[in-house]
Amino acid sequence: MTYYADGTLMRRSTLLEWCKNRRDTFGLSSPLFQARRQKSWRTFGWLEPGHDYATGACPPGLLRTLQEAGDHPVDQTRGRYSCRFCPSSHDELRPLPKLTTASGRELLLGSASLEVLDTTGQAWIAPDLVLHYVVEHRYLPPAELADARLAPR
Ligand SMILES: [Zn+2]
Repeated sequence: MTYYADGTLMRRSTLLEWCKNRRDTFGLSSPLFQARRQKSWRTFGWLEPGHDYATGACPPGLLRTLQEAGDHPVDQTRGRYSCRFCPSSHDELRPLPKLTTASGRELLLGSASLEVLDTTGQAWIAPDLVLHYVVEHRYLPPAELADARLAPR
């Protein structure tokens, strides 16, 4: 997976501007395009071995928000990433992390992103593996996300 330092500002490519008002085949804006209406995002949870990350107890409210965001993933892909912090003798044999969300849904992590907003309305995006990182590897998301809320759908 690509590493990004927490808080890295990413801007929508001008080549993707055309997506802003794109409609799907049913004439509706897809959740992906609705999410992409944000002009910029900050990154969190794009972790890779070899790069230090903040650790600590995640505020319970933030974990709940991240789990709710995991129920509505964005940028779903067909590929999957496994956790490279979990021990395994071969990359291809690493298990795909699973997580049961607050709603009772079991998520197979590693093929989508999740998005939340901070108190200023800034969108933050993380791989859905962030849920595994928080629970199993004590990753602590940035303080700006302590009172994060779900991005509008
Ligand atoms: Zn892991």
